[in-house]
Amino acid sequence: MNELALGGVKDFEFNIKDPKFLDEQALWEEAKRVYSKCKDCRMCVTYCPSFPALFDAVDRHEDDVEKLSKEELALPLELCFHCKQCYFKCPYTPPHEWRIDFPHLSLRYKVWKFKNKSAKMTDRIMLNTDLVGKLSVPLAPVVNKLNSTPTFRVVVEKVMGIDRRAKLPPINPETFVSWFKKNRKLVEGKNGKVALFYTCLLNYN
Ligand code: SF4
Ligand code: SF4
Repeated sequence: MNELALGGVKDFEFNIKDPKFLDEQALWEEAKRVYSKCKDCRMCVTYCPSFPALFDAVDRHEDDVEKLSKEELALPLELCFHCKQCYFKCPYTPPHEWRIDFPHLSLRYKVWKFKNKSAKMTDRIMLNTDLVGKLSVPLAPVVNKLNSTPTFRVVVEKVMGIDRRAKLPPINPETFVSWFKKNRKLVEGKNGKVALFYTCLLNYN
């Protein structure tokens, strides 16, 4: 099987501008290529729901990834929450010639889905973490109070599909960036620069 012809990662190194990146057929062929390696390895079965979903589907079809339906191909990618555990444990990630990269495959699937199917309102809102954070910080006491109110959570569950039992991180009344500007201390010496990699979670929560 020619991996280049399948539009695999080898072809474009997760290049979102490559025409094949969003080609549905190329996406499913790449999923089948990755799944055909994973089904024989199965090391990641305990990491997340993606792998059990994949192996159950393959087992239903006599170990043949070619027989998987589009829904069965999509489910493992849908269930991936990008913890990257499988990537760090997998012995077949690039530069290995198999170039297995499950989290990036899932990301590619989600980009394709976002562009070709209408994404849910909740997904569009929740993906925009900066917007949600900027709107929430000035209203932090109100947002935190509402998020801990069972009746409000029932409404949020019905409207946005966020499970009422899910623990939501409290919003900080001040962003980390703003706090840091006020509190950073310049020290004497020739130690050069320090890079601080803060995340949206640290900035707003
Ligand atoms: S991602 Fe790698 S280690 Fe995990 S099941 Fe697939 S081939 Fe095996
Ligand atoms: S990156 Fe995705 S597929 Fe890999 S272990 Fe995490 S959730 Fe599972």
